[in-house]
Amino acid sequence: MNRTFVSVPLKLLCLIVGTLLLMSAGFSSLSLWRLEHEFTQFQRDKLNLGSAQFSVEKSRLDNQIRIWVESFSDIVGVNEQPTFNPLSEAVAEQFYALQLHLNVENLWLIDENLQTLWLSSETTPRLVREHAIEVLNVQEPLSSILCDRDCQLYTSVPVINEQGKIAVVTMSASLIDVIFSLHQSLDSNVAVISVPSGQTLSLQQVSFISASNQALLKKIFAQRPEQLSLAQVMDEGIQLSQADNHFLLNFMPLATTSSREYFLVLIDDVSVFKEKNESYRNYFLVTELFIFITLAMLVFFVTSPFARRLINLANALPMLARREFNEFRKVPLKRRSFFVDELDILANAAQELSFELEQLNLEIEQKTKELENIAMYDLLTGLPNRNMLNLQLHKLVASLRRRDDGIGVLFLDLDDFKKVNDSHGHGEGDRLLEEAANRIRTSIDTVDLACRFGGDEFVIVLPQISSIDEAIATAQQILTRFKQPIKVGSGVFYVSTSIGIVYSDNEALRADDLVSFADIAMYEAKKSGGSRYHIYQPEMFTRVAQRVELEGEVRQALLKQQFSLSLQPQLSAKDKRLIGFEALLRWHHPEQGMIPPDEFIPILENSEYMIELGYWVMRRCFELMSEFLEQGLVDVRIAINLSAMQFLDPHLIDYLRQLMRRFNLSAKHFELELTEQTLVSDIDKAIKVMNSLKQIGFSFAIDDFGTGYSSLAYLKKMPVDVIKIDKSFIFGMLENHSDYQIIMSTIAMVKNLGLTVVAEGVESGAQLRSLTMNDCDIIQGYYFSKPVPEAELQHFIADKVVDGFWKTQAKQH
Ligand code: C2E
Ligand code: CA
Ligand code: CA
Repeated sequence: MNRTFVSVPLKLLCLIVGTLLLMSAGFSSLSLWRLEHEFTQFQRDKLNLGSAQFSVEKSRLDNQIRIWVESFSDIVGVNEQPTFNPLSEAVAEQFYALQLHLNVENLWLIDENLQTLWLSSETTPRLVREHAIEVLNVQEPLSSILCDRDCQLYTSVPVINEQGKIAVVTMSASLIDVIFSLHQSLDSNVAVISVPSGQTLSLQQVSFISASNQALLKKIFAQRPEQLSLAQVMDEGIQLSQADNHFLLNFMPLATTSSREYFLVLIDDVSVFKEKNESYRNYFLVTELFIFITLAMLVFFVTSPFARRLINLANALPMLARREFNEFRKVPLKRRSFFVDELDILANAAQELSFELEQLNLEIEQKTKELENIAMYDLLTGLPNRNMLNLQLHKLVASLRRRDDGIGVLFLDLDDFKKVNDSHGHGEGDRLLEEAANRIRTSIDTVDLACRFGGDEFVIVLPQISSIDEAIATAQQILTRFKQPIKVGSGVFYVSTSIGIVYSDNEALRADDLVSFADIAMYEAKKSGGSRYHIYQPEMFTRVAQRVELEGEVRQALLKQQFSLSLQPQLSAKDKRLIGFEALLRWHHPEQGMIPPDEFIPILENSEYMIELGYWVMRRCFELMSEFLEQGLVDVRIAINLSAMQFLDPHLIDYLRQLMRRFNLSAKHFELELTEQTLVSDIDKAIKVMNSLKQIGFSFAIDDFGTGYSSLAYLKKMPVDVIKIDKSFIFGMLENHSDYQIIMSTIAMVKNLGLTVVAEGVESGAQLRSLTMNDCDIIQGYYFSKPVPEAELQHFIADKVVDGFWKTQAKQH
């Protein structure tokens, strides 16, 4: 919603003006009311004064008449006379003087029989008769006003003669003088008017009887045509204007006839009042306007600096959100002033806030950096970690689209690091890793990225190389550097590393793929003996893929019992006694047919399936051995092949013990075949396991002897019983002199150590003879027999073996 902006000064102004307006409205109505009140008071006073004055004047006239009648009747001596005749005569005589002095117009003398004894006029008004009746009745004087063409006061006074008879003297006197004296004493214009009887008063129907200022009266009455309530007019008077003058008319009732009412009207000029009122109003308005303007200016000048400061602050505060702390502090929010106000406090608080926010911001940045470090760097070596690798490599791969060159990824794995760790503890292992990291770091260019991938694995990214040769150069440099022994504490370690290299200029490959390809290549390098680099080839991936597929299949094959053993006999060279059999694994794949072990065992190596499969082989060998014993073949043993992983499996010893218990068989019936490779992978542990198994009664054979790079020297440390010369030497022994030499010297040395020598792969009689002549103990090979499937074994033994000896020695002789 877009709301209108109304500044605080304006709001304040509105508030003040509103208050002022309210107050002034109150004041003005109060003073107007006061003025009104004053005016009403004036009107009342005028009316009362008029009424009082009128009644005084009237009474004076009335009294004069009464006194005159009383004193006159005394002079005449009415009360000493039997009739009123002398009175009427005296009245007639004095009437003229009476008219002159008392302003009397007419006189009537009426006796108790209502007979007019004397009268000055021709007629006797009804009022006179009524007066007479009344006065005769109450024997008191009576007066009242009667208006017609003018208004007159009728005063009736009783007189008593000697006989106690009463007569009434009634005199009428004009009120003109009374009205005139009113005009003089009240300083008001006075008029007598008559209006038709009724509730309302219409000014147009007013008849003027007499007036002190006839012309003015006419003018005043000429202009108000409307009807007025008579009662209200009598109470409040009427205000009428004439030209610039204002008049107040007060009505006093004089007399009433059947058709008309007579009033005495007091006319006062109230222009002064009106003017006072008007000028007061104007004065009030001007004063108010002045106050408004002054206040508005005051409010503006007082509040606008506030508003400016507030707006300043409001404009500056968002800077804090934008983290522009320095800019914020440059805004002049503080002012130099003796007095401090709320805005100063606010500005101070904002300043303080800016410092605290800045501090907070710094801390956050610091913490963020630390977190980034933790997230992106390896704590031990200080090298970037896997997260950083992923991040950078993703970016690099994406950048390949715009580039002509490529990227190289090197996957490093320290050889035999685990052994160092196990034998010398993690502390030394860590030092070793740190040194390894240093070597890697110093072997690469600044643009290159070296990361610790995890454990003893490192990944190096060469972000811009144009061929694999540059990656190879780096790998070689690292390999060379690792040839130097590493000193950790008091020990000196020779640690080599295996490196897998991949080069790519293809943006379609994902960063993860590059790392896993390099990993695969590293694995190949390791398999080839370590301390070397291998370049990734797509076949390697196929192998890995195969392996993954195979692993799944092996699981199924175990469940579906697709594995079996073939047994190849071993005979003593001298007397062809059956020493035993080597158990060789066979896989009857439902689709691929028979899969030779060479095709799946090396692939399965290092997988848990190989261990499972190995245990299956062992159990089967125990079963077969039980059968042999049942058949009476008591002196034979079965040689079981163990891969490195199987051999180093921590459950091996327990498992073999279990089998021994379960089949109630002695360990002497079994020979465990280990390759030199197995033994060197973790020599200390191998010796430990060998010793344990040896104690139980198992014997050991070193398989494929001569293909590894170990010497006979370390064989002395091991509880080895048998050495099996690798068949590759046997195959060419008669043609290849060096093979022959190797075989013969091996036999000699082995015999010297007091061990037994087995020659495997013996295919010809000539080989057999040569070996026999040179003191070889045991012969195994196609010459005597191919490995025999278990199903055919019973038949085979029955066919070939007699009393534990080979039945047909025909071929050799
Ligand atoms: P190895 O332990 O050296 O086994 C001897 C191999 O030589 C067997 O091949 C055997 O059939 C073959 N052989 C024996 N005499 C002759 C001969 O006169 N001429 C020729 N050309 N070959 C002969 P096989 O059965 O194919 O086994 C290959 C390898 O598979 C074995 O080599 C062994 O390393 C591995 N292997 C076989 N069975 C097992 C097993 O149960 N466990 C483990 N870990 N490895 C096994
Ligand atoms: Ca073997
Ligand atoms: Ca072998």
